[in-house]
Amino acid sequence: SKPVVAIVGRPNVGKSTLFNVLAGEMISIVKDTPGVTRDRIYADVSWLDREFTLIDTGGIEPESSDIILSQMREQAQIAIDTADVIIFITDVRQGLVDADSKVADMLRRARKPVILAVNKVDNFHKFMPDVYEFYNLGIGDPTPVSAASRLGIGDLLDTVISYF
Ligand code: GDP
Ligand code: MG
Repeated sequence: SKPVVAIVGRPNVGKSTLFNVLAGEMISIVKDTPGVTRDRIYADVSWLDREFTLIDTGGIEPESSDIILSQMREQAQIAIDTADVIIFITDVRQGLVDADSKVADMLRRARKPVILAVNKVDNFHKFMPDVYEFYNLGIGDPTPVSAASRLGIGDLLDTVISYF
């Protein structure tokens, strides 16, 4: 069967936007949409000669900060249990927050390949200085991307398939 790649991260970092870009279709709902009950969304993705199954673990996400962390832990655990490669996505505009560090700790202990994607780097010149702070998560080199502007996506996919 195909390798499984899971996208994990806080609400609003751009998981669903990235999922749609990688899947090449608008499958995952961007932002909260009332009435959407699916909590995990799958797509088949191919890049170069490789194929994999992509999962958006986000679904409907909470707004209150005490629920956010517990739901992120659940999402991270799903990724750890089911994925061969995990894309952990953060938001350069919001910077590094405590919930990112807690999830990074979980992912590090899982001993699965984790790719740290720093999203919303819509302008590399302007935002690259802010990307370096994500080295503090201790899960490797941050990969700058802009899901909305489709920047850095090829490099991200090259890294994903390098782990298969
Ligand atoms: P999710 O909650 O992690 O699934 O995040 P969404 O994909 O729903 O995106 C949350 C918000 O961030 C939406 O308003 C998106 O349009 C916006 N967004 C996503 N990716 C980018 C990006 O690369 N740059 C910018 N500026 N905004 C983005
Ligand atoms: Mg989402």
